[in-house]
Amino acid sequence: MQFYSTNNSDRFVSVQQALFHSLPVDNGLYMPSVIPRLGADFFNRIATDSLADIGFQVSRELFAGEIPNAALEELTHHAFPFATPVIPLETGKLSILELFHGPSLAFKDVGARYMAGLMSYFSQKGDADVHILVATSGDTGGAVAMGFHDVPGVRVSILYPSGRVSDLQEKQLTTLGGNIQAFEVDGTFDDCQALVKQAFLDSELNARLSLSSANSINIFRLIPQGFYYVSAYGQVAQYRKPVVFSTPSGNFGNLSAGVLVQKMGLPVHHFIAATNANHVVPDYLHSGQYEPKPSVSTISNAMDVGAPSNFVRLTHLYQNSYDDISKHISGYFFDDDQTRAGMQVIHDDFGYVSCPHTAIGILGLQQYLNQTGSDCCGVALATAHPSKFKPLVEEVLGVEVDVPQRLAVLANREKQSIPISCDFNHFREAFLQTV
Ligand SMILES: *Cc1c(COP(=O)(O)O)cnc(C)c1O
Repeated sequence: MQFYSTNNSDRFVSVQQALFHSLPVDNGLYMPSVIPRLGADFFNRIATDSLADIGFQVSRELFAGEIPNAALEELTHHAFPFATPVIPLETGKLSILELFHGPSLAFKDVGARYMAGLMSYFSQKGDADVHILVATSGDTGGAVAMGFHDVPGVRVSILYPSGRVSDLQEKQLTTLGGNIQAFEVDGTFDDCQALVKQAFLDSELNARLSLSSANSINIFRLIPQGFYYVSAYGQVAQYRKPVVFSTPSGNFGNLSAGVLVQKMGLPVHHFIAATNANHVVPDYLHSGQYEPKPSVSTISNAMDVGAPSNFVRLTHLYQNSYDDISKHISGYFFDDDQTRAGMQVIHDDFGYVSCPHTAIGILGLQQYLNQTGSDCCGVALATAHPSKFKPLVEEVLGVEVDVPQRLAVLANREKQSIPISCDFNHFREAFLQTV
């Protein structure tokens, strides 16, 4: 498997290059050079396979030439000791794909843990220390911090927008210590992302350090996210209906991963791109015009992205054809009032407690099913455990939300972060002092 840049499809790089360097020098994004096809028999025999087994089988198709099977098997089983169960709300019609059973209680564990496994596999072979820089709107940081904590040969710096992540999210970023360092940025997520992008383009930093990213711009975060779409398909195949996935989206890595496995042969009937008030992609799907905007703050803060970094990948997967993409993906968006009302209705109708992001996915799916009246098996992705947004969920639903033990223990640990402004030189100085 090799990778090309969305800005230049003639030059190819290796797995290791794309893994450790994240971004091509031409400022494009890496994409797999070939997308292997898995036959229908594969998707029909995985109904009872674990996420780890599915991850192994798909990885083998992708990386057989680069990584021995035994190492891939160990890596996937170490990365995925948890399941991604499909929970029916209305049998055969509306289900939730729960992606929050990993250590940080959000779907980003899947990508972060697989990527950490790959990096530690390759660094065992004697590479220099790697410095990972990651911008987070909330959940990426926690998943990356926990996925990479104590991984030898890797140091992680996390940039997060001050005051714009939940208390427990902040604890996940700032309390592990060791090889994990948090920078608290006086700005928005887009500012954090811009600082990271600038660091990758800074020649002096790159000359001194081996910089890498764990954001969803790294293709190895995105590829494993396809595994749970496959797992979910296996769990609902018994209904023998067209399968529709609804993905609550911000940077659009999660949705791109679904489209990628669809291109590998997964029989997905349709995708829903569901967003909050940051709705540049739903707007594009309606009008054909793509107009990135500054992000606005919402209660579903992990999706507060005004210029989604994976938009280019998404359109690339459809050969930049608006006709094609708008045929396969429908976009819906919901403001905070609609999200709150949706959380309430989902709780009243199904007894299901959802985080605001998950509620947006469910609302998008319901809107699609109502509008088209089609007899589909709808699967909405639950991207985070409701307890990650405990105060909000309790305020909206008036019920108590239990915090799983693995998150609860963080509440008493002390926050350690380095405050910085949005100025790149300021960040650069502070960062260099930590290395
Ligand atoms: C990151 C995140 C999203 C958005 O995922 P993208 O891949 O950036 O589109 C949605 N929900 C939650 C809870 C998240 O943490």
